Order: sequence, then structure tokens, then C-alpha cells
Amino acid sequence: MTLRHLVTGGAGFVGSHLVDRLMHKGDEVLCLDNYFTGRKDNIRHWIGHPNFELIRHDVTEPIKLEVDRIWHLACPASPVHYQFNPIKTAKTSFLGTYNMLGLARRVGARLLMASTSEVYGDPEIHPQPESYRGSVSTIGIRSCYDEGKRIAETLCFDYRRMHGVEVRVARIFNTYGPRMLANDGRVVSNFIVQALSGQPLTLYGEGTQTRSFCYVDDLVEGFLRLMEGGHTGPMNLGNPGEFTIKQLAELVRERINPALDFVFKPLPQDDPLQRQPVIELACSELGWTPSVQLADGLDRTIADFRQRHETPQGVNP
Ligand code: NAD
Ligand code: UDP
Repeated sequence: MTLRHLVTGGAGFVGSHLVDRLMHKGDEVLCLDNYFTGRKDNIRHWIGHPNFELIRHDVTEPIKLEVDRIWHLACPASPVHYQFNPIKTAKTSFLGTYNMLGLARRVGARLLMASTSEVYGDPEIHPQPESYRGSVSTIGIRSCYDEGKRIAETLCFDYRRMHGVEVRVARIFNTYGPRMLANDGRVVSNFIVQALSGQPLTLYGEGTQTRSFCYVDDLVEGFLRLMEGGHTGPMNLGNPGEFTIKQLAELVRERINPALDFVFKPLPQDDPLQRQPVIELACSELGWTPSVQLADGLDRTIADFRQRHETPQGVNP
């Protein structure tokens, strides 16, 4: 059966890879974006295709559409971008999710919400299972994003209980891959851009904090299984391979230019010390485990950045 999908944030990094998968399935896709951090370049190859429509819209405003599935990804994900206008970020999470749940209710669509490992805050237990309720600051510089995603999860479950809306909640851990913005500010893109430009790599703090990095194709596969499976979540989707930021810097440096230096900068406020998903639920419910190792995923990401680096208009948003 051909489905009609709405992908909010579809011109962004993860959203555009999801659009590719849905289009390759032969389904119809409505890609909705306000282009805050998304780019038409990411979905340009589908413009003009009869199954594809592009909608410039801000999810903080309601919209009426006829769809079967709503993939709700619209929200800046990099600290640099979500802290640019934190009040707008909180509005995007709350009002955006509220509007999309309202749409799902009206048309009987199933909605998957892109939540985040940030709902665990700076975690006191390690690794993090879905049952952990988190340690999030309500007043810090990351709160607009973290608390925004927490209320978005709450809205999903209240729409499910009150109105019977079919929801799926994915808690995404750090994801990387081709099409990340060069000025995104996240660690993988920063290190690759710095290394390709011959600049020292900027490690915040001592680089001993950890993250677990998931390649984007693995995440999108998890998304598809979660949407069509019977479990609402919340469900962790991430790669359990845990690395210190210094280890990541070393991996990037040895691939691009082993002679580069590291420079150490202050650790941002509320920066979580460690992050690693427990993915037993996704394994047992969806038969999902990530398959791309960090070294391999970095090679693919570096190849994409190299290509854009050589055509400077491609690197700039
Ligand atoms: P991204 O910044 O590349 O994509 C977000 C997209 O949403 C962009 O295209 C942006 O223009 C659009 N957008 C932002 N505000 C909007 C608004 N008000 N109305 C309409 N469109 C809007 O980020 P991403 O990495 O692709 O993340 C996608 C989703 O996944 C986000 O919801 C993010 O919170 C979540 N997530 C991502 C990661 C990760 O590591 N990439 C981790 C956890 C959660
Ligand atoms: N980080 C870093 N150098 C950079 C960018 C980020 O050391 O140039 C660190 C950052 O302090 C954090 C980790 O890398 O500890 C991951 O940062 P990112 O912004 O990618 O994701 P998040 O903190 O939201 O998990």
C-alpha cells in the first residue's frame, strides 16, 4: 500500500536521509521545513518528482494536510543553533509537537516524534535505559531543548491517552553522517571541517566526556521499524559504542591529517559527562541494532565533507 508521509524538518540532516528512504520505497512524501537549519540542497534531487512536495512552513503554526504518517523532526538539534533563540526552540518543541499531534488526531495519522537522549540530561546512571527519568536542568542553557523535548514526549502520551492518537517516540543518541552542516557546531562536523581546513581540533574541557555516535543510515532504519512496529516507545535509538571526545578527535585526525594539533577550550555549561544507550528494547521489539562502525561512518562522512569542501558553495548553508 502506498502511504503519504509528512516529514517535518525534512530538509535537515536526518530528515533528508529519511525522505530518501521513503521516496525509494515509492511512497508519497510531503517535506515541510522553515529552512532554519535545513537546506534545499539536501532534497534538491527530489524536486519535480511526482511523489514529492516541498512545503515552506513553520511548525509553530497549525497546518491542514491529508497524510497517513507524520515524522516529526522539525527542531534545531545542535546546541549552537538551538541556543541561538532559545525561546523559539522551546516554542518549536511545544507548539510544533502540539500542532502535529492535532493534525494526526484530525486525519487519523500515526506520528513518530524525534525525541533525544538529552531527556536524560547529565545522567547519574550509565548506560541509560528508557526507564531512567533523567537529570535535566530546568534553567540552564540546554534547557530550552531538553525540556522542550520532555514536554513534547508528554504531549504525545497525553494525545494517545485522551484521543487515541497512535504515537511512536524515538530517543535519538548523537547521530552523524553526510549532509551535516559545516557550521553546525556539533562535534563530528566541527572536527572534520577543522581538519580539512588544516586548523587545530577544538576539544571542550579535557575531552574526557563521552558520547555514543550512530551513523545516520542506522538511525533511519530504526525509525522505519519503530513507525511500522507495534511499540510506542519511548525507545532508545543509538549506537552503544562509547568514545571519549579525545578518541573521536584522534580518529578524525588520523584520517585527515595526523600532524594537526588539539586546542582545549572551556567545557560549556551543563555539558553531559557521559552518554551511552541501552538498546535492548529496540533489539527485542524491532530486531534493530546499528551496523556501521564509527571508523567506517567517519570515512563516509569525511568523503561527503571533502566533496563539499572542494565546492565552497556546497559547504555554506
Ligand atoms: P537539523 O537541524 O539538521 O534538522 C532540523 C530541521 O528542522 C531543519 O531542516 C530545520 O530547518 C527544521 N526546523 C527547525 N525549526 C523548525 C520550525 N519551527 N518549523 C519547521 N521546520 C523547522 O537537525 P537533525 O540532526 O536533522 O535533527 C532532526 C531531529 O532529530 C530533531 O528533532 C532533533 O532534535 C532530533 N535529534 C537529532 C539528534 C542528532 O544527533 N542528529 C540527536 C537527538 C535528537
Ligand atoms: N565538543 C567539543 N568540540 C567541539 C564541539 C563539541 O569538544 O568542537 C564536545 C561537546 O562539549 C560535547 C560533545 O563534544 O561534550 C558533543 O557535542 P555535540 O554538540 O556534538 O552534542 P551534544 O553535546 O548535544 O551531545
